[in-house]
Amino acid sequence: MTTLSHLECSLCKKRHEAGQAHNLCECGGPLLVRYDLQKARENWSREWLAGSPASMWRYAPVLPVAQPESVVSLGEGFTPLVRADRLGNAMGAKNLWIKDEGVNPTGSFKARGLSCAISMCVELGIKKVAVPSAGNAASATAAYAAAAGIEAHIFMPRDVPQSNYIECKAMGAHVTLVDGLISDCGRIVGERKQAEGWFEVSTLKEPYRIEGKKTMGYELAEQFRWDLPDAVFYPTGGGVGMIGMWKAFDEMEQLGWITSKRPKMICIQVEGCQPVVRAFEQGTPRSEFWQNAYTVASGLRVPKPLGDFLVLDAVRESGGTAIAVTDEEMLDAGIELAKMEGMFAAPEGAACIAGLKKLLASGFLKAEDRIAVYNTGSGLKYLEAYSTRYPRVAGGEADKLGGLITPR
Ligand SMILES: *Cc1c(COP(=O)(O)O)cnc(C)c1O
Ligand SMILES: [Zn+2]
Repeated sequence: MTTLSHLECSLCKKRHEAGQAHNLCECGGPLLVRYDLQKARENWSREWLAGSPASMWRYAPVLPVAQPESVVSLGEGFTPLVRADRLGNAMGAKNLWIKDEGVNPTGSFKARGLSCAISMCVELGIKKVAVPSAGNAASATAAYAAAAGIEAHIFMPRDVPQSNYIECKAMGAHVTLVDGLISDCGRIVGERKQAEGWFEVSTLKEPYRIEGKKTMGYELAEQFRWDLPDAVFYPTGGGVGMIGMWKAFDEMEQLGWITSKRPKMICIQVEGCQPVVRAFEQGTPRSEFWQNAYTVASGLRVPKPLGDFLVLDAVRESGGTAIAVTDEEMLDAGIELAKMEGMFAAPEGAACIAGLKKLLASGFLKAEDRIAVYNTGSGLKYLEAYSTRYPRVAGGEADKLGGLITPR
């Protein structure tokens, strides 16, 4: 199954052995999983994918799980790559695709990371996990923990979308709402985990979520028939999806599956929380904590991404860019996407459409470029955010407001 070799610190490059529970390196660096790609290359070929499961586990040789029985799967990944011609024509992009992660279990791509991380918990005998989350990671943790019979302890900001709160409760997780941001939730988990015997599954503090997320990169290559697009838009909170895809491209090149050609990696953030955009503009290797972070795109409300340096590396090495959009522009774009393509996207995905508009207008991207946009979640999880556009009012101004009529 896996060709897992060892783990390696992304900062000091120290080697860590597999087969035991890991969080960060002693130096504070996130650990990255390394595989014996030479062996994988000899024993596995991309042609075999045709007969593999229609989930992210089709890439099992480059995922860390050793025993097939450990895998906790709800059908995550292998999501549709949807051609968006009507929207593309309206925007002046002739080759536009949307990778729709909203159809994943629990309605976001977070399912990929947690399927992998919880499978590794099963394999390593971990019985209790804890996670700080802005929303969707909590839902996915609750779901995979429930499916695995593992206890989940979840810490979320008190203004987290209702869908995430209710999903977590329904799936039997222990939920604590925190009057603060995800960074405050993270601190609380850090303070309590030792005494409580929790294993922390915060993204990048745990080495396997990124492995699940990287399958977005494998799928992109497979669905584009091993010829990656010219640009990839990714709504960046912690940026782990971007880091994961970048890692996947490198692995696939070593497997001989793709060339050294890379898409421009485009990091999209929001006006109210744009630490990576600021660092990109200022040419610094790391971001600074973003004060008073605000946006309805809860997945983008990450004031200080742990892996900021890895995101910035990918954006810079690829010749990409990082830009921010406003919440208004984001919701407008989400509604335009829904109207033209029948896809109701999470605000995070919608932010990418708003960003794409700007980069076409500025000439950074050309009409002929092949462009892939990640819609990272379903709009159905963000009804509070979208309901600001569609107030429901009884009687009276029904037509104008799209509200109720009173039958006679
Ligand atoms: C978590 C999340 C993001 C940000 O993901 P990262 O890979 O951590 O940057 C974007 N969109 C949605 C819907 C999310 O849940
Ligand atoms: Zn280290």
